Amino acid sequence: MAVQIETSNKFLNYINGEWVASNTNEVMTNINPANTDDVVGQVQKSSREDLDKAVAAAKPAKKEWRDLAGAERGQYLYKAADVLESRIEEVAQCMTREMGKTFPEAKGETARGVAILRYYAGEGMRKVGDVIPSSDNDALMFTTRDPLGVVGVITPWNFPVAIPMWKMAPALIYGNTVVLKPASEAAVTCAKIFECFQEAGLPAGVANMITGPGSVIGQGLAEHPDVSGITFTGSNTVGKNIGQIALARGAKYQLEMGGKNPVIVAEDADLDLAVEATISGGLRSTGQKCTATSRVIVQSDVYEVFKEKLVAKVKEIRVGDGLQDGVWMGPSVSESQLNTVLSYIEKGKEEGELLCGGKRLSGEEYDKGYFVAPTVFDGITSDATIAQEEIFGPVLALMKVDEMEEAIELANDVEYGLSASIFTTNIQKMLSFIDDMDAGLVRVNAESAGVELQAPFGGMKQSSSHSREQGEAAKEFFTSIKTVFVK
Ligand code: NAP
Ligand code: MG
Repeated sequence: MAVQIETSNKFLNYINGEWVASNTNEVMTNINPANTDDVVGQVQKSSREDLDKAVAAAKPAKKEWRDLAGAERGQYLYKAADVLESRIEEVAQCMTREMGKTFPEAKGETARGVAILRYYAGEGMRKVGDVIPSSDNDALMFTTRDPLGVVGVITPWNFPVAIPMWKMAPALIYGNTVVLKPASEAAVTCAKIFECFQEAGLPAGVANMITGPGSVIGQGLAEHPDVSGITFTGSNTVGKNIGQIALARGAKYQLEMGGKNPVIVAEDADLDLAVEATISGGLRSTGQKCTATSRVIVQSDVYEVFKEKLVAKVKEIRVGDGLQDGVWMGPSVSESQLNTVLSYIEKGKEEGELLCGGKRLSGEEYDKGYFVAPTVFDGITSDATIAQEEIFGPVLALMKVDEMEEAIELANDVEYGLSASIFTTNIQKMLSFIDDMDAGLVRVNAESAGVELQAPFGGMKQSSSHSREQGEAAKEFFTSIKTVFVK
């Protein structure tokens, strides 16, 4: 592949339009999970003092920023989109090296970042309120929307461009200023977004970035009295803690968390399509998507045929360094994520029958990275640990059912409710699934992982704080409705 490996780089915090070193003089080093000899970059291991400086920059910046017309704010986002677009290859390459997803996927994600910026840039010219007839005929009553003020953005490593962007772009267009605390494991890629903001001439203080440990900077953002809203995507444990902190001090919050997403394969399904979507939904990005397919619920009549086709295809998957041509699946993001996945795999061996994979990959191509073989288990029951807990790795659990009602019951038998998919050609089954499935995204004859930036995104049950992100839904979180009465 004709991509140039960059030499290692040191990245600073971005505060008030400038790159600033942390007062700790400490850095965190990010390495390539496909080759631990490759240093991707260093980011600041910041302190609360650094965070205070960023919030102190965002706070006064909000007045001038919100006083601009929406269309003027939109112009900055259009410019940022153009800059990011011109740097797609470089940003995507950095993403692959930093968190392991394949280069084509990283490019797709970066292009999505560009599209998100353009979508919300346009939002600056769309309506913000309604005129409501007052019972007083001499009065005018209408609604408008105010920005929250300073918004704290806390993001995970698995979509280092798309998730920060689908939070920051709407925050900015509706007139908020932001402080981003990116996931440490993908902070170099996030720094590149801020280089784009800087090149686009975003006014100082409007968007700031502080890197550092979640327990210090993430927690600090949640607790900061000058931060009026917190938007978080990540694990349930961390999310719930942030929600409690925000609730206690009366800040608005939004949490998008884990998933344990099912695919149902009905006896009348197009099995080849279902196999392809199960593999794509479950194993692409090494299973490290919140919407990844994890439980594969198959009707008994087609169970054996489906299983055979699935395992044959999974065995063909080419694992390796995501920058190499022809590689379909990269490594786990980190050693600790690798160990988590391997421990779930060991659990799975006790709970069911291993059909393929089931181990860390070794050999010259693999020894310097965190590679796991794509893994499929058979005979998993719903009470099994690997049928209940989010693994975030390339592991599929097959489960057999006789009837469709049982399939949906099983699909709902987890604490999460992010996404779910069904493969069927029967309209009645489609409709029952759409009605009865407790998930924020339900997809028919399509894989569980698939998000469109113009549509609402979010989960039910333990997957979310029940708010929605993206599309027009973002307006609900990033603004407050103000009802105006004029006599
Ligand atoms: P995570 O460990 O919860 O981290 C998410 C973010 O929170 C990171 O920036 C992290 O910083 C920060 N953080 C860690 N501890 C914190 C604390 N005590 N207070 C405040 N912030 C803290 O999650 P992850 O491992 O990065 O990502 C994987 C999880 O994200 C999975 O559960 C996945 O399902 C979920 N996810 C959900 C969605 C969705 O939209 N529903 C999308 C993608 C991922 P550090 O990096 O410095 O630890
Ligand atoms: Mg983490």
